[in-house]
Amino acid sequence: MNHTVLTGDRPTGPLHLGHYFGTLANRVRLQDLHQVFVLVADYQVIIDRDLPGGIQANIDDLLLDYLAVGLDPRKVTIFQHSAIPELNQLLLPFLSLVSVAELQRNPTVKDEIAHSSQAAVSGLMFTYPVHQAADILFCKGTLVPVGKDQLPHVEVTRLVARRFNERYGTVFPVPEAMMGDAPLLSGLDGGKMSKSRGNAIALKASEDETAALIRAARTDADRHITYEPESRPEVANLLLLAGLCTGRAPEEIAEEIGDGGAARLKGMLTEAVNEFLRPIRKRRSEVDVAEARRVLHEGNARARELAVRTLAEVRQAMGF
Ligand code: ATP
Ligand code: MG
Repeated sequence: MNHTVLTGDRPTGPLHLGHYFGTLANRVRLQDLHQVFVLVADYQVIIDRDLPGGIQANIDDLLLDYLAVGLDPRKVTIFQHSAIPELNQLLLPFLSLVSVAELQRNPTVKDEIAHSSQAAVSGLMFTYPVHQAADILFCKGTLVPVGKDQLPHVEVTRLVARRFNERYGTVFPVPEAMMGDAPLLSGLDGGKMSKSRGNAIALKASEDETAALIRAARTDADRHITYEPESRPEVANLLLLAGLCTGRAPEEIAEEIGDGGAARLKGMLTEAVNEFLRPIRKRRSEVDVAEARRVLHEGNARARELAVRTLAEVRQAMGF
């Protein structure tokens, strides 16, 4: 089957290993067979902070990361929210399709509120999952490669698509989420690895920075290394990361390290991560920012054309 793939990231900082194993690897894989759209979700930056702060630098970072991991601009359309006003227009009818209670019980929104830097929760925090429905449905997306935190949002999109089709006649496909090898990679403090939570290994970090980050990672008091995700989540996460970077089973790595303790595990992990990221980092250093911005500019034009068409279809279906 031929898919239309849509997914994206907030320009809140450089991409990290959670992105890579959660969604980027899938995007790169899918680009050869399907039509892939990648969204720079710039409006979403202000869901949990007052100002978009340093937005242009963060967008540049995101673009460089995309190109570094192997997204090919000849195959993939990279575009940004703020360049496609039709997405905001789709938001309006879509909002009418969901209830306030449905918006309020979204577990990812609750988690993001808990980590928000804002004193008061904004309306955007509750409604951005519906904006995301517009992001996915404007291109009639059928497949959404995301991390586990995004599943409730994809559920909102499915709800919006189904309800729209029921009320106004079939316009939209009902998309599926697709998870990667690590649907929810933990950060070095044990919580979800996130750009905004200071617990991530950025793809672009230097080898020394990577070593320092891993050295400071939380572990536990038991010197003997075992892979027990339930009872030893921090150690298990480091083993999982080492496994992902080397293509080996975390249990096997644990056995090999055994009484070597956290120090040996961290040394091994540092090497594994740096080796895994070396070609990505090298490619990143070769990409030109001006070229990356051109890619976004062209992607914006392509996405806009499609959004205008879908919005017209929506208006017609609704009888406007
Ligand atoms: P922020 O802290 O600013 O929200 P983030 O690290 O959560 O940043 P997003 O831009 O919100 O990154 O998410 C982009 C994509 O990466 C989403 O599909 C999300 O599910 C996925 N993702 C983010 N963090 C992880 C993780 N730790 N493990 C797996 N997937 C992840
Ligand atoms: Mg996030």
